[in-house]
Amino acid sequence: MSDRVSAELFERASKLLPGGVNSPVRAFRAVGGQPIFIREAHGAELVGADGSSYVDYVGSWGPMILGHAHPEVVAAVQEAASRGSSYGAPTEGEVLLAEAIARALPSIEMLRMTSSGTEAVMGALRAARGFTGRDLVAKFEGCYHGGADYLLVKAGSGLATLGEPDSAGIPAAIASTTVVLPYNDIEAVERLVTERGSELAAIIVEPVVGNMGCVPPAPGFLEALRAQCDRAGALLVFDEVMTGFRVAHGGAQARFGIRPDLTTLGKIVGGGLPVGVYGGRRDVMQTVSPLGPVYQAGTLSGNPLAVAAGLKTLELLEAQQEQGLYDRLEAAGAELQSIFEQAAARASLPLQVQRVGSMLTPYFRSEPVTRFEHAAAADAERFARFHRGMLEHGVYWPCSQFEAGFVSAAHDAEMLERTRGAADAVFGTL
Ligand SMILES: *Cc1c(COP(=O)(O)O)cnc(C)c1O
Repeated sequence: MSDRVSAELFERASKLLPGGVNSPVRAFRAVGGQPIFIREAHGAELVGADGSSYVDYVGSWGPMILGHAHPEVVAAVQEAASRGSSYGAPTEGEVLLAEAIARALPSIEMLRMTSSGTEAVMGALRAARGFTGRDLVAKFEGCYHGGADYLLVKAGSGLATLGEPDSAGIPAAIASTTVVLPYNDIEAVERLVTERGSELAAIIVEPVVGNMGCVPPAPGFLEALRAQCDRAGALLVFDEVMTGFRVAHGGAQARFGIRPDLTTLGKIVGGGLPVGVYGGRRDVMQTVSPLGPVYQAGTLSGNPLAVAAGLKTLELLEAQQEQGLYDRLEAAGAELQSIFEQAAARASLPLQVQRVGSMLTPYFRSEPVTRFEHAAAADAERFARFHRGMLEHGVYWPCSQFEAGFVSAAHDAEMLERTRGAADAVFGTL
């Protein structure tokens, strides 16, 4: 399945890089086979190392909402590079990017830029702990918030128990500062707040989950989180690294009408370069150094090239949303959903496509997925055959059941028709 050029590169890569990759999901372990090495990408199309063309639904795992190598984003990065790539001093671009973010997400009254979503989440939760003077953080099983020690935790036995390390190398004492609850389970949140509300610094949540595949919040779930945080005197942190500027221009908080205390962003706000952002309530953000006692820093934070890519992306999104960009993304997402559903119906396969706007996941099962254990119960072997088959037919879908696919502004009718052809050919063989 993987081309000869990629196979040769993978063999060399595997001698030096663990698993041949610099981030584990890229290794195709969950679906078998070997990764395709990418030579270049334009619009909705990826070009493999051997020159093969693929319709791309990974979009670099979320950032490429305008498509790859958008000419205006490329020009902005080139122009910025010609003025020097990093100064370790403030720039006008950072001010413009901060203003563009605050315009789109009014809950963000102050913000700090980082170089990744992981760092943004770490900064947000340190600020939440510093502001409240409390240690405990609650998260939801199946939500991913980057690689911080106290967030790579899984549920212990029983509900609302302390987290257990979900990776080697994480001290149990650190994992135990996190409580893990089932997603969409309002009662579990209420119980936690009743029992331990006074210890709780923050509840962090993906307001639409992308990291167990796409799982929307149940009606009332986000409202309940808002209410329970207020009851506990804890901060509500929306991790919108994936959903920000994706499920609506103003993120999930705009789509569902909930105002979090803190928000984390990444992916789209970097336009394909490394950027993370955390921000929110002014009184909380004023605890961040140099204004306050919560330390957080980064040599390349607000890097001029990354800021140029992010700023141009947000400028284009702001201009195009007035011309119906998010409606078009919604329609393209719905079209892709129906392509999968029709192919599955014709092949008499059980399939749940879960979608919020332009992010979606096909689960091979007949019941909806509202929490992690449902996602884990979907037919992973059939998903692996789906992934391989689509790849053979020129469609690059995320190589894990637990990842969402993304439609970009560059997925036009032709790209969707190529996808329909692939799905019609593949589903009958699953
Ligand atoms: C991708 C992601 C992160 C981590 O961002 P990185 O830039 O990979 O560190 C955190 N939270 C969510 C919801 C994400 O999707």
